[in-house]
Amino acid sequence: MTDQQALLATTTSAVRAIIDEKVAELVAAGTARPKVGLVPTMGALHDGHGALFEQARAENDLVIASIFVNPLQFDQPEDYEHYPRDLEADLELVTEYGGDIVFAPSTQHMYPGFPDAPHIRVSAGQMGQMFEGASRPGHFDGVCTVVAKLWNILMPPPPAVFRSYFGRKDAQQLAIVTRMAKDLNIDVKIRPVELVRAPSGLALSSRNVRLDDHGMEKALGLSKALHFLSDQATRGEPLDISAARDMIRAHENVDLDYLEIVDPDTLTPLTEEQLAAPLEREALALVAAWVPPVRLIDNMLLSP
Ligand code: AMP
Repeated sequence: MTDQQALLATTTSAVRAIIDEKVAELVAAGTARPKVGLVPTMGALHDGHGALFEQARAENDLVIASIFVNPLQFDQPEDYEHYPRDLEADLELVTEYGGDIVFAPSTQHMYPGFPDAPHIRVSAGQMGQMFEGASRPGHFDGVCTVVAKLWNILMPPPPAVFRSYFGRKDAQQLAIVTRMAKDLNIDVKIRPVELVRAPSGLALSSRNVRLDDHGMEKALGLSKALHFLSDQATRGEPLDISAARDMIRAHENVDLDYLEIVDPDTLTPLTEEQLAAPLEREALALVAAWVPPVRLIDNMLLSP
């Protein structure tokens, strides 16, 4: 709304009061249907998140950020413990990125009684069991549970409209939350945002801060392999997944988890025949690898 410092709320009642007030102000000022955009994050904000805020700012009257490191979506305690956290820096960045409100609840506020709660959780179904879900059991159930809660908490009152922004960096997450909104009839419009890369090609990620120069170099294997496949797709050549996998495995200590080419909506892998022929429609190359001490994911849309 303005250039002033983003407002911080740490409880459901506080954040709702602010949203209600802002929506009422917008209506009183003549905005018939105020547009409210939510950017859900786990903090440790970087320019990849910045792109979500930029799009949300351009498309909405009010921009809300949530910052919550969601324990339900971590399968490794070590990853959860070492996940970077700096609320003060994040608040400044949200303000810089043009956000109006920050919702940053504690774990106990989100999940009273945790770790024995919440008792009722959302299941991501089959889409949540492939790729990231196969390697990180329960990850997408955790994502769906927290996103459903955030939508319930932060959905603005009528006549406002609600949009939620997700990066293409997490392509499987984007496909799953889109499906969740549809399957559960949640009145929110999902807005995808393009993946942001460093000039080197590395996909920006909060976990990159744990990589040293050597690790950064190795991590580049992921985006290079994706570019290799993308170039093949543009030239109408067969897609050589084995060669792309080898490009990643060539780096010492890098453990490739998966590299697959799938349908962007259903995440179903393309068949051997589809890979051998020129692409008929867009496909999505998904990759994940351990580049110690972190596990990285990346993806690229392949266009015919
Ligand atoms: P996270 O804080 O990692 O949970 O990410 C919050 C949101 O930011 C998710 O929708 C991510 O997909 C998105 N995001 C993270 N990194 C990037 C990036 N490099 N480019 C685009 N979106 C991103």
